[in-house]
Amino acid sequence: MEVISVVNQKGGVGKTTTCVNLAASLAVIGKKTLVIDFDPQGNASTGLGIEANERRQNIYGVLIKRYGLGDAIHKTNIKNLFIVPSTVDLAAAELELKEMPKREYILKEALANLKNVFDYVIIDCPPSLGLITVNALTAAEQLIIPMQCEFYSLEGLSHLIKTVKIIQDRLNPNLEIKGILLTMFDKRNRISEQVAREVRKHLKSKVFNTVIPRNVKMCEAPSFGKPAIAYDHTCSGAKSYIKLVKEILTNNQLQALHE
Ligand code: ADP
Ligand code: MG
Repeated sequence: MEVISVVNQKGGVGKTTTCVNLAASLAVIGKKTLVIDFDPQGNASTGLGIEANERRQNIYGVLIKRYGLGDAIHKTNIKNLFIVPSTVDLAAAELELKEMPKREYILKEALANLKNVFDYVIIDCPPSLGLITVNALTAAEQLIIPMQCEFYSLEGLSHLIKTVKIIQDRLNPNLEIKGILLTMFDKRNRISEQVAREVRKHLKSKVFNTVIPRNVKMCEAPSFGKPAIAYDHTCSGAKSYIKLVKEILTNNQLQALHE
């Protein structure tokens, strides 16, 4: 079971879109995949068609130990794809967790009971670096950092990388950055090119070759409660997420050759 957190403290950079479409693409090729919606906004839950009234068992209840993670897993309309949804209650957890023992490890411990039930667990983080995100970084082995190709993104990225180093030192030595993903790339916009070039210059090997283009179908799909690959698998956004999965699986295999 590989646990991947999709993280960036900035909002609107494509975390949820990446989480939902990566998970759906993995499911479609037969990998049993669980999405954990770890954002009180619940966008991943909505994007995977889980209505608000179906979220009685959710990630907040798991964190405060009202029930186990297994009890909060919901099916989606896509074969092999499951989700633990979230609700606005999760916002309160940021404070409530502070009082709990081993407060950084609560998600990790909840996941331990699931060992090997899933091939992949993909965690959709909120846009902050608070205790919820710390739980996601402590529970994961791998991080995917979606980054919008804008001027200010670079500053946020260096702050995030510092935070990752602190987590590696103090809480989770196994944590690795799987890759930085350039999202909402607009080839007509010169800033997009410039930012992409700059990120590749500084963090060469850490940036996925796959780039996600700006594509209106990506904003339409969630309103139908579907990942883009289920809404229109021929659109450029969906195709690029399928390409990302191929890149990830190939990288995993190449890495295994060296282990
Ligand atoms: P985050 O989870 O980081 O806040 P989202 O995934 O919710 O970001 O994306 C922010 C907004 O941008 C959403 O409205 C989403 O539909 C839209 N979006 C995400 N990826 C793309 C894309 N490749 N092309 C066009 N719009 C996108
Ligand atoms: Mg989001």
